[in-house]
Amino acid sequence: MKVAVVGVGYVGLVVAACLADGGNSVICIDKDKKKIDDLNNGIIPIYEPGLTDIVKHNEKAGRLKFTTDLKEGVDNSLIIVIAVGTPSRDDGSADISAVLTVAGQIAELMSDYRIILTKSTVPVGTHKRVADIIESKTEVSFDYVSNPEFLKEGSAVDDFMKPDRVIIGTTNPAVRELMKQLYAPFMRKGDRLIFMDPASAEMTKYAANVMLATRISFMNELSGLCDKFGANIEKVRAGIGSDARIGNAFLFAGVGYGGSCFPKDIKALIHMGDSVGSEITIAKAVQQANYIQHEKFADSILKYFSGSGGTVRLGVWGLAFKAKTDDIRESPAIWCIEKFIKAGLQVSAFDPEAGRAAAELLGDKITTHQDAYDAIADCDAMVIFTEWQEFRTPNFELIAERLKKKIIFDGRNLYDPAYVRKQGFEYHSIGRP
Ligand code: NAD
Repeated sequence: MKVAVVGVGYVGLVVAACLADGGNSVICIDKDKKKIDDLNNGIIPIYEPGLTDIVKHNEKAGRLKFTTDLKEGVDNSLIIVIAVGTPSRDDGSADISAVLTVAGQIAELMSDYRIILTKSTVPVGTHKRVADIIESKTEVSFDYVSNPEFLKEGSAVDDFMKPDRVIIGTTNPAVRELMKQLYAPFMRKGDRLIFMDPASAEMTKYAANVMLATRISFMNELSGLCDKFGANIEKVRAGIGSDARIGNAFLFAGVGYGGSCFPKDIKALIHMGDSVGSEITIAKAVQQANYIQHEKFADSILKYFSGSGGTVRLGVWGLAFKAKTDDIRESPAIWCIEKFIKAGLQVSAFDPEAGRAAAELLGDKITTHQDAYDAIADCDAMVIFTEWQEFRTPNFELIAERLKKKIIFDGRNLYDPAYVRKQGFEYHSIGRP
């Protein structure tokens, strides 16, 4: 099939590359000329495991092209995927202006029937607004599909290639058949397409993200209780995760969730509820618990060093909001580091992929390093924010050698407390005695 993907970000680039890998002819369009130039010069703008290989493979096979020219995509594709950003507005609502702009531009360029499909996460009812805009600008017939994306940064390629399910919001049976064909390469182990109306599809995306964030915030609040009563949140996690009704995923206590999706999608659902007088109190509590979790972790470190005299220097491991990505949007690490800097502490940091993005954001407020052990040299404590695999079994002798004081604050519960203490460290983690 011939497909255009508008918006070549964390979602759009993965979706485009995977669809091309499924045998489709895909044209990627972005308004960011530098991004498109980089992609045409073989530079992949984001870090995502496995992505570089499939982009290069499909480009070489002639199935994947990059351009800033929307017309080229609209002229040559039956299906046009919108995957532009939908950030939060100040009032918490999702800013869908980029989606609406692109929909209008597509309408003006369309000379024949097209299927417009939204991957961007958009508030319930957006399907009507997109359809209205297109109808106001063209007489050409079209269909609209709400097809929210559920991939996770860090495993995005795998998630797209082997989805748990694909949600398709359309009421047109002919479009349903086309969607079956589009996703057929990724359904070899069995059909996991779930068809519904567009409004339910839009709601499903928010429901999924808020449910997942709820699990995390619940575990984080429980971890505080574990601290008070001498219970161990890791044991509790294993205890409840083994219950088939609950399951193991998204039960890790830590410094709080971040990223470009959970925080903004929770805000958007809260706004949706408030705007129609149907308050989502759970989402409000989840959001508040997450801020408290960031704050508790940062404050515990500030309190530890308060009144210690002299300049305190922290050596940070992990800047990305989660492992296996270079994405620092709403990262708890950045949130806490800004608080540390404001309080007069110095920060030097390492992240396997996100160092550059953090340096660009924070400038000379922190120093970033290419080597994990250089980042903690002469520091008063080491602070862990991201659960990178390579942090899990570090060289504790080298850590001890580099640090000024053998203190670790672990926001991800990476180590066995007994083992680390045996190595002579003072070890602070989340919800473990
Ligand atoms: P992103 O910021 O990484 O990428 C968005 C891209 O769209 C950018 O490259 C930007 O230049 C481009 N763009 C914006 N306006 C444009 C326009 N008018 N014409 C052409 N290009 C334009 O965003 P993302 O993380 O890929 O997220 C995209 C959407 O997918 C959001 O709605 C998000 O909520 C949703 N989503 C994200 C994830 C994730 O893990 N990042 C997962 C599922 C869903």
